[in-house]
Amino acid sequence: MEYTTDVLVIGGGGAACRAALAAADAGARVLLASKRPPAKAGATSYPVAEMAGYNAGDPAVCGDVEKHYSDILEAGQGMADPQLAAILAARAPQTIRRLEAWGVPFEKEDDGYYVFKSCFSNSPRTHVIRGHGEPIIRAMMRQIALRSQITILDDAVILGLLQNGDGCCGAWGYRTDGTRLTICAGAVVLATGGGSQIFEKNLNPADVTGDGYRMAFEAGAELVNMEFMQIGIGFSHPVTNIFNGYIWEGKPILRNACGQEFLPAALPEGITGAEVMHEHRRHFPFSTSDNAKYLEIAIQREISEGRGTKNGGVLADLRHMEDAWVAALPDDCGIHHMWPIARQHMLEKGADLLKSPVEICCFAHAVNGGVRIDQNAGSTVPGLMPPGRPRAGRTARTA
Ligand SMILES: Cc1cc2nc3c(=O)[nH]c(=O)nc-3n(C[C@H](O)[C@H](O)[C@H](O)COP(=O)(O)OP(=O)(O)OC[C@H]3O[C@@H](n4cnc5c(N)ncnc54)[C@H](O)[C@@H]3O)c2cc1C
Repeated sequence: MEYTTDVLVIGGGGAACRAALAAADAGARVLLASKRPPAKAGATSYPVAEMAGYNAGDPAVCGDVEKHYSDILEAGQGMADPQLAAILAARAPQTIRRLEAWGVPFEKEDDGYYVFKSCFSNSPRTHVIRGHGEPIIRAMMRQIALRSQITILDDAVILGLLQNGDGCCGAWGYRTDGTRLTICAGAVVLATGGGSQIFEKNLNPADVTGDGYRMAFEAGAELVNMEFMQIGIGFSHPVTNIFNGYIWEGKPILRNACGQEFLPAALPEGITGAEVMHEHRRHFPFSTSDNAKYLEIAIQREISEGRGTKNGGVLADLRHMEDAWVAALPDDCGIHHMWPIARQHMLEKGADLLKSPVEICCFAHAVNGGVRIDQNAGSTVPGLMPPGRPRAGRTARTA
């Protein structure tokens, strides 16, 4: 089966849907080709988080957007591209307005947005969307439905990019019924997400397998920072879910499969369990930048040395975290507002955190690297954009 389009978007997550809308609004015919239907695809819709944290500075507060930018660079420890970080910080606030106009509900408190401090930030700027990225995809699918120039193939496994003398000019693959696909395009947006499925323990759905990195690399694109993965603690049994940073402020009691509280003996002299948990409230992923690292190291050591549960985790006892008890804790990390949301989310999935201990372990979460892009989201291969705005002026030609 052959298709010809102005812009081919490969993927069906948040990045792909946004790119398809931008290309359509610029006047292009768009073909969005995803392994799975967007509402069921990728990390964006994967229901293993009680919320999506959306970081944006407040343009009404002098210097706040600039602080967001400097926090990104600080957290990136030299690996973040300053130009891209500046674009992200500058556009994040206006994107909230657009998402709201499309019907995405952001958590509110009093007269404004509810925000808290996470992701290594130095001031509160994490906005909350309950239900992770699902409301975002739902809103964008409504927008896509209004644009007749976007066609969706939601069972297309793309396996390779096509190139001619001018660069990338399409892609090939198969539909799930075995039909071969050839798609000729003026520009290709690669939005295939991450690749954490290469790790046995991961917080990603089955379709996030790193295909885009392989396709881009084979097409000659430069990849950057691929050795930097985000790893973090997640609930692993009886349900899988991210263990967000603020939960550590509740000081869960950690035990191995023999019932021993292993953390105190795993810490260097002079550092307490309460201190490392307090540090971890600021961020979800493992980082060597502060003493929170001793938590992941201690947990993984118990599991690797055979003292984990039969499911490959350790036990976290959160039964003391009744709402009234949590309300009395210091709150510079969102625990007062977010804990009831997290607890309810876990309850709906089948785990009552106040009734019995649950299992946690270290999970692969996200790939920090990817295809190197410029400020227009162009890769080093002409015509290949992972993901971003298609360049104007290129129309499809059959390879
Ligand atoms: C548990 C969890 C919590 C998170 N929390 C946050 C948070 O609080 N804040 C935040 O900003 N981010 C968070 N993230 C990260 C965020 O969800 C992702 O970065 C984002 O959703 C990625 O969007 P994407 O469109 O790039 O990829 P995805 O949503 O993963 O979509 C990838 C798409 O590509 C398709 N695809 C893959 N390979 C192929 C192929 N060969 N052919 C065709 N299609 C293909 C897939 O089917 C899918 O449709 C979290 C992620 C997880 C898993």
